[in-house]
Amino acid sequence: AAENWRLDDEKIFSSLPPLFRGHPEIHLRKGIMDATRRVAANEADAENAFFVADLSQIFRQHERWMKYLPEIVPHYAVKCNPDPYVLRLLAALGAGFDCASNGEISQVLGIGGVDPSRIIFANPCKATSFVRSAAKAGVNNMTFDNADELCKIARAHPEAKLIVRILADDSKSICRFGIKFGAPLEVVPSLLLKAKELGLDVIGVSFHVGSGCYDPTTYGDAIKRARDAFIMGAQAGYRFTLLDVGGGFEDARFEAAASVLTDAINHYFPDRKGIRLIAEPGRFYVSRAFSLAANIIARRAPMIENSSEFVDLKPTSDEPSVMYYINDGVYGAFNCIMFDHQTVNPYVLSLNGSFHVSSSEPLSLCSVWGPTCDSIDCVCKAVELPSALQIGDWLGFDNMGAYTICAASQFNGFEFSKVVYTTSRVGGEEVRRALCNLAAKGYGHGVGP
Ligand code: PLP
Repeated sequence: AAENWRLDDEKIFSSLPPLFRGHPEIHLRKGIMDATRRVAANEADAENAFFVADLSQIFRQHERWMKYLPEIVPHYAVKCNPDPYVLRLLAALGAGFDCASNGEISQVLGIGGVDPSRIIFANPCKATSFVRSAAKAGVNNMTFDNADELCKIARAHPEAKLIVRILADDSKSICRFGIKFGAPLEVVPSLLLKAKELGLDVIGVSFHVGSGCYDPTTYGDAIKRARDAFIMGAQAGYRFTLLDVGGGFEDARFEAAASVLTDAINHYFPDRKGIRLIAEPGRFYVSRAFSLAANIIARRAPMIENSSEFVDLKPTSDEPSVMYYINDGVYGAFNCIMFDHQTVNPYVLSLNGSFHVSSSEPLSLCSVWGPTCDSIDCVCKAVELPSALQIGDWLGFDNMGAYTICAASQFNGFEFSKVVYTTSRVGGEEVRRALCNLAAKGYGHGVGP
């Protein structure tokens, strides 16, 4: 039985990723030391930027979810970060998955051991061929928000279990989806009528308050709308059994959102026997779990005229005078600045080759740029960093797990930054046990990098 496998069993670990132990900071430093050695040995691409992913952090977020929203089964939004080991871990922890495409469905089913019923195809506008593939793969749960989609599904997957995605107020979220998706409540009755006419089975309601929701009260309003849609379902002759509360959960406001959501569910769905509650969290699970180390590969600083000396930078200067160029940018991991409306905060990982950075280092205002030849590739327009930073030093960026790697490109021939996996002290054993159990059952081989 899986329980009898020892955690340090060689055979099992050979089928797992090189999964280190210890705090992510240790592995950021280890990675930098390794890169420094490789630079000294003149190895190619030695100083490449890299991520450290702390899988324990994902485990801890799952624990938090289960503590504050025990009734709601999380279906992790794969789009947010389809890292193979994040998916494996969440599969082993019993989460479901929100997939937006054929590719994401294949990736999740490729883990092995994930029943297609644990997947919701939560894209209301799908290609017909994708609907057909979902039918073939046994993925039945899918969302819709328009009549054309119903006709398409009636042709390509008549056995589908449909979920009507209703419009929610997304005005309190960083990324708004309402202009693209979500049926206003006024059109829901006619959509349900159409579904009935086509002989389709609608089983419930979903919504999404927008990604990065900073006002938890929005969930209360969305639940009220969902309750109205349930009533419309009953009027159309359906008995809804699924309520999907979507994503949008922010790490810092999670407990507040969970509390609003729980109260609203209790209020609007007091008698919910027979109703399955699910959600589609993405950002909440992965944001804090990934840090990025990037190397300063170039710098442009003003020079003293007729001298090879640099100007002594005035810490009081209010214009960035030094430009640092690092080896990941907005075409890579920092695409989150463009697509996810994020600002990132660099900190110094090494200064003049040394890890020790005292808090009394003189600072100056500078800008940080990505490695490509495009001037849009700016990571920070103005940030205070030690004036002594040199080419070869390293900057760190935390909270880099959500909507980063997934949308990165290789523009200008720059490679994706690789990921080093670790488990920190709290939750580390649970992560290893979960991954071991998955591997011991023969799963988890299909999705390795
Ligand atoms: N569900 C759907 C349908 C989405 O489009 C998204 C994000 O784009 C998510 C869930 C995940 O949202 P978040 O990362 O804010 O939790």
